[in-house]
Amino acid sequence: MSDLSQTIKLADIVPESVVDGKGIRMTVFVQGCRHKCPGCQNPTTWDESGGEEHALKFITDIAERNPLLDGLTFSGGEPFLQPAPLCELAKWCHERGMNVWSYSGYTLEQLRETGETNPAVKRLLEEIDVLVDGPFIEAQKDLTLAFRGSRNQRVIDMKQTRERGEIVLLMNE
Ligand code: SF4
Repeated sequence: MSDLSQTIKLADIVPESVVDGKGIRMTVFVQGCRHKCPGCQNPTTWDESGGEEHALKFITDIAERNPLLDGLTFSGGEPFLQPAPLCELAKWCHERGMNVWSYSGYTLEQLRETGETNPAVKRLLEEIDVLVDGPFIEAQKDLTLAFRGSRNQRVIDMKQTRERGEIVLLMNE
């Protein structure tokens, strides 16, 4: 059962998006990122003391107004800097039959390693359906790619990856 009592630092919310994952999605841009990728589209999200703190219910109230949503996408900023509240939000989505995509500037391998000592990161990894991983690398930028900015990033089917024990991509291009 999800617990919406936590708060989260937000940069922005886009209530309806078709570019941050498959289907109609609400995108939650979290505040705070340490990757500082050259060419980042959202540098105002880097400052961990910036943004606005909100109750999770602030987000779920907006999502509930749109019956057409397929799911939520966590973007940023770096979602895995705030894994505990996002995990509850992901659970809330799944309780309603919606799916969860998350971007991260860390690779799945790095997140798994962090998860060995950070239980909230491990739990969030277990809740996510699709992970778009890795930093934005300007030299590998490709505007033709769906749902990612540079070729190094992977769109990973996390459910299949967990089941098969090897990384399964949702799409190659
Ligand atoms: S991980 Fe994303 S938000 Fe963070 S610096 Fe890189 S492109 Fe920008």
